[in-house]
Amino acid sequence: MMLKIAVQKSGRLYDYSIHLLKECGIDINNGNRQLKAVAFNFPVEIYFLRDDDIPQYVFDNVADVGFVGENVVYEKNKDIEVVSKLGFGHCRLSIAVPKNMNYQSIADLEDLKIATSYTRLLQNFLVNQKVNAEIHEISGSVEIAPGIGLAHAICDLVSSGSTLFTNGLKEVEVILNSEAVLVANKNLSQENKKILANLMMRIDAVKTAKNNKYILLNAPDNKLDVICSLIPGMKSPTILPLGIEGWSSLHSVVHEDDFWNIIEGLKENGAQGILVAPIEKMVL
Ligand code: ATP
Ligand code: MG
Repeated sequence: MMLKIAVQKSGRLYDYSIHLLKECGIDINNGNRQLKAVAFNFPVEIYFLRDDDIPQYVFDNVADVGFVGENVVYEKNKDIEVVSKLGFGHCRLSIAVPKNMNYQSIADLEDLKIATSYTRLLQNFLVNQKVNAEIHEISGSVEIAPGIGLAHAICDLVSSGSTLFTNGLKEVEVILNSEAVLVANKNLSQENKKILANLMMRIDAVKTAKNNKYILLNAPDNKLDVICSLIPGMKSPTILPLGIEGWSSLHSVVHEDDFWNIIEGLKENGAQGILVAPIEKMVL
C-alpha cells in the first residue's frame, strides 16, 4: 500500500515540495521529470500535476493527498480536507488598480470591471463587501489587463508586489492570505491514514524545528531561577555546573518569535557566552 501524493509538476511550489519531502527523509528519484515517482524509503508515490488540478484529483481519489496553495483550494472549493499548513508558498490574493487612480475605499470598486482567474474568491469578496463590480475571467497574464484596456482593475496573487509595480498597478485590497497546505481525500483507507499520520509527524517535526533555536549559555548561579524562567525549553532547561565556582551552563530551546526579547532579558541577568544554533528536527 502506498500513499499517493500530488505535487505541482513545475512552478513555484515544486522545489519547496520536493525539499520538504527530503527534509522528512523521503527520497524520490525524479531525475528525468517523470509524471510519477516512487520513494525509495517511505511508502509514498508522487504524482506531478498542474496545481489547478490537484483539488479535483484529491477529491476523485486519483491522489490521496496533495500539496497545493490555499488560493487554489478555496477557489476550486472541492469537498476535501485541509490537514495542515506547510510553511511555504506564501502569497496573497489582492485587488490592484492603476497607480494613478484616486482609490479611497472598497466603494471605489463599484461598477469597475475586474480581471481575474479567481472568480469564486473575488465574487465572494464583492458580495460580502456589498460592492457591484463586473468580473472578467482570464486565465493568465492578468496584470496586463488594465494596460490594454481589458479591465479597470485586477485580482491576482502577489508576493513582493514587483510585478504589480512594473505594470503600473498598486495593491489596494487583500482578499486572501495564502500558503501551501496539505489536503487530503476525506475517505482514506485505514492503511493510508496511518502513512499520512507518520508523514504528518515528520512534517510537524521539520516545521517546529524551523521555528525554534537551540540556545546554550553560561549563567551566574545566583540568577539561575530568573534565567530558567526566561528559557523554560521543552520540559526545563538542562543545567550543568561549570568548572568555575558560581557558574552553570544552560541548554534550552527558544521560539524564533521571542528570540530577541529573551536575549535582552538574559543579558540583563548576567548571562554570558550565548550560543544559538539551528535545530534540524524537533519531535514534541
Ligand atoms: P501550473 O502550471 O501548475 O498551473 P501556475 O502557473 O498556476 O502553475 P505558479 O505561478 O507556479 O502556478 O504558482 C503556484 C502557486 O504558488 C500559487 O497558486 C500560489 O499558491 C503560490 N505563490 C506564491 N507566491 C506567488 C506569487 N507571487 N505569484 C503567484 N503564485 C504564488
Ligand atoms: Mg495553475
